[in-house]
Amino acid sequence: ASSIEMKGLHKRFGNDAVALNGVDLTIRAGEFFTLLGPSGCGKTTLLRILAGLEEADDGTLIIGGKDVTEEPPHRRSVNTVFQSYALFPHLSVRENLAFGLKMRGVGAQEREAKVAEVANLIQLGELVDRRIDQLSGGQRQRIALARALVCEPDVLLLDEPLSALDAGLRSQLQVELLRVQKRLGMTFVFVTHDQQEAMVMSDRIAVLNDGNIQQIGSPREIYETPINVFVARFMGHDNLYAITEREGCRVTTPVGTLELEGGSEGEFVLIRPETLDLKLGHVAGTNHLPGRITERLYRGSHAEYRIAIGATSLQATVNNRGHHLPDVGDEVTLVVSSEDLVTLSE
Ligand code: ADP
Ligand code: MG
Repeated sequence: ASSIEMKGLHKRFGNDAVALNGVDLTIRAGEFFTLLGPSGCGKTTLLRILAGLEEADDGTLIIGGKDVTEEPPHRRSVNTVFQSYALFPHLSVRENLAFGLKMRGVGAQEREAKVAEVANLIQLGELVDRRIDQLSGGQRQRIALARALVCEPDVLLLDEPLSALDAGLRSQLQVELLRVQKRLGMTFVFVTHDQQEAMVMSDRIAVLNDGNIQQIGSPREIYETPINVFVARFMGHDNLYAITEREGCRVTTPVGTLELEGGSEGEFVLIRPETLDLKLGHVAGTNHLPGRITERLYRGSHAEYRIAIGATSLQATVNNRGHHLPDVGDEVTLVVSSEDLVTLSE
């Protein structure tokens, strides 16, 4: 496995489209690292620069301690899995897997051994003798992964490899991909626009927007302490309220007065829905917010509530432990403890 160091990577297409606006990022050897961001934020461009398929306008790229900024793709120990499989449809799985090895001048016997090894790792079974055009989408994606692994690169780049698959198959392949990565100890750079997928898979995540890295951290850091409104919204948060005033240890927000340590006027406070307690009726107290339930989505294991507070509203998640679940129309008090509140910049 190799580490990857990116320093000041810039990329512009034509005159106006800035794809990367100075990316500084270090990925550790053996890490499952995810680039997360909306469509058009520069994920594919960054991956193509790592692969050597695209040249940065400015900046340095070091892979495994070696400066590869000027090196062509074949001089880098890097392989890529794309969303579209890029397999040869009329060849068998076995022939597809052996192709890259053949191009590298690997002899027939060694090719066969390596193909058998990776077929075993990905548990391809009798699929190895089928033609690609006889396979389903999910099977093709597994073959694309196998083909990228068979050349034993130090780094594997994966550009939204699971996006085209349906939900069930997708979570199955997420587990499989993670298992393979942990077993091989290879460095994976994984691209997705799906924050749930990023959280499940990654050791660490970099959130990108408009060619800029917004935040780098573990899934828990990114989800629980997003540093700005963009990251918070992208991670699925909705309970974000502008701080309009601070007085002593209290701040004023659209949902009411909150006691919290950090956070000043112009910043935002995030109230995670799962940190709220719901009490029936209106109860006075610090960080007690009175409201009325306007919506309840019963999800079996838990219920999701929308609660009107003044002119705004708030989401709360309540685990279903078999107790009474309040219903639409009920007057409730939301209770949150100060240490669960997160402040962030705009
Ligand atoms: P993502 O993979 O996150 O969706 P991309 O890296 O594909 O984003 O694109 C980043 C930005 O660069 C977008 O604005 C896109 O339109 C632009 N871009 C990417 N590739 C090209 C290209 N070959 N020519 C012109 N613009 C491009
Ligand atoms: Mg892309």
